[in-house]
Amino acid sequence: MQYKIVVHYAELALKGKNRNEFVKRLRKNMRKKLASIGHDWEVKSIHDRIFVEVGEVEEAVSQHALTELARVPGIAWMSLVHWFDEQKYRFLRTSTPELQPIHDLITKLANQHHVEGHSFAVRVKRSDKNFCMSSQDFERALATTIFKTSPWKTVNLKHADQFFFVDVSSRGTAVHLNKVRGTGGLPVSSTGRVLTLLSGGFDSPVAAWLMANRGCNVDFIHFSASHHNINDVEEYKIARIVKQLSEVTGRSRVFIVPYTHFDMALLEQDLDYDLILFRRFMARVSERIMDKIEAGALVTGDNLGQVASQTLENINSMNRAIDAPILRPLLTYNKEEIIAKSTELDLFDLCREPYKDCCALISKSPRTKSKHVILDKMEREHLSNYEELIQDTLDETTTLVYNFGQLVFKKDAGDEDSYI
Ligand code: ATP
Ligand code: MG
Repeated sequence: MQYKIVVHYAELALKGKNRNEFVKRLRKNMRKKLASIGHDWEVKSIHDRIFVEVGEVEEAVSQHALTELARVPGIAWMSLVHWFDEQKYRFLRTSTPELQPIHDLITKLANQHHVEGHSFAVRVKRSDKNFCMSSQDFERALATTIFKTSPWKTVNLKHADQFFFVDVSSRGTAVHLNKVRGTGGLPVSSTGRVLTLLSGGFDSPVAAWLMANRGCNVDFIHFSASHHNINDVEEYKIARIVKQLSEVTGRSRVFIVPYTHFDMALLEQDLDYDLILFRRFMARVSERIMDKIEAGALVTGDNLGQVASQTLENINSMNRAIDAPILRPLLTYNKEEIIAKSTELDLFDLCREPYKDCCALISKSPRTKSKHVILDKMEREHLSNYEELIQDTLDETTTLVYNFGQLVFKKDAGDEDSYI
């Protein structure tokens, strides 16, 4: 069977130049996604739709492509269309066209999708009126076929449980059933680049996804308790989270930096406020990398009040540490919403795995209130080699690059040019 995928995009409010750029970017991202699963299909715009020319393939192949495309940000919904090319079938401009192939397909679909007790309706649209029958007559003819050749018993014209859509046009005739919802939003690469602070928990991956679905390119930084062996670094939980997220974010880097230098400096000092000091340290190291990779904002999975340390005071203290904006897309989310999204993204089990290599720093009773001026003074007095601390930490960066679920590059600490 010949297939096409018809894509309706989100954000209809976008106008003019923005809209054209958006659609071009979306087509490009869809092509890349398809290439990552081995398909070199044409993706083109016709009026307000994008068409993927799937061609002659097994149904399972087109269904798989549809599922993969549903993850691409910027798509409102799609349908898989069974396509009868007019050049081949000549349904139009023939007074007695051979319509049996359409009836046969309807029979097959009706049997595949039958649900006991459900109602159905056939909807025919003709954008080319040269067709030999009126829409209503063709609807009736196809409904009769469904009654005769499948177990469907009830028609409900307005509120059917299952519609069978047939669109007759001068280019060809499309038969389709269900809409597949996309995730909406904007295509990745249309709104800028962000660096996400990624920990081993549920929140930060969801925060990163939200930014990607809002059109951002997303890179990641993780602070780990030890230096990872480059040979098996991709086995680490953090690397696996980024690998999974890159199915949506496309090309994403993850910078893994050890916080051992900071840990040591703090140990010697026996300071209070260790968690918020660590947050400020993470922000400062991140800002250096952001300059190199030209990221416009830092992103965290902070959620107001979720843990004792996530207070407005601590958020403010972290913000004051750097000039770059810090975005917190999950700030007002409920935990159930975050878990639901994590599950949808196939990240729930992975994020639930125990992860020992992070957060050893967190004290048992973290300070819930902090003030920038106090922290600033503390840092000047007790962490006077701050610049060296940042540099030593950056020097031990391991970088991995993922592209649609594939590791495409890795660089160990000490290798040159690690922020690629
Ligand atoms: P998450 O669920 O994302 O792990 P959390 O509930 O453990 O977060 P915190 O530990 O307070 O909450 O961390 C808040 C945010 O700070 C995280 O969402 C993440 O963005 C950032 N963060 C915390 N620890 C690290 C780390 N080791 N490396 C990078 N970012 C971190
Ligand atoms: Mg959290």
